[in-house]
Amino acid sequence: MQTNIEGRLFSKEEIPDTKNMQQVKAVEVKENKKMCLRCGNNQEELFFRSPCSHCGSENCWYCRNCIIMGKMTECGSLFYFPGRTSISSRKSNYLAWKGELSPGQKIASAKVHHAVVEKENLLLWAVAGSGKTEMMFEGMNEVLINGGRLCVASLEWTFV
Ligand SMILES: [Zn+2]
Ligand SMILES: [Zn+2]
Repeated sequence: MQTNIEGRLFSKEEIPDTKNMQQVKAVEVKENKKMCLRCGNNQEELFFRSPCSHCGSENCWYCRNCIIMGKMTECGSLFYFPGRTSISSRKSNYLAWKGELSPGQKIASAKVHHAVVEKENLLLWAVAGSGKTEMMFEGMNEVLINGGRLCVASLEWTFV
């Protein structure tokens, strides 16, 4: 299907036909860890249980963090079209920049790359003109090699 909404998550109410769509649980409940797949909330105090008309459970977990957009429950699902980047069309390298990082920039670049691989949050904080963009290239390349998507946003400018 040709569409510009690949990867975006929809609730059943938001999409008329879920045929050909992938499905994930709206709220994942694992032992003592919960995660809302719509808003990314994983704070224990923002999950509550209530009797659920959908699944019939007396104690169905739901996310309070994004409830203003409709209730996401552990018995509910979110639907998405898989991304366009099939494994066969991926490149082994997306880097076109021919510049050279300084020793300090290389250290930061390696940390960005590591954070991407480990799926960790990282704040890359440096003065304007220090090459933050270039320090992100290795990490961005890693995302694209693995078929992921990325968004780079800035107060001054945006590119994807
Ligand atoms: Zn339920
Ligand atoms: Zn949520």
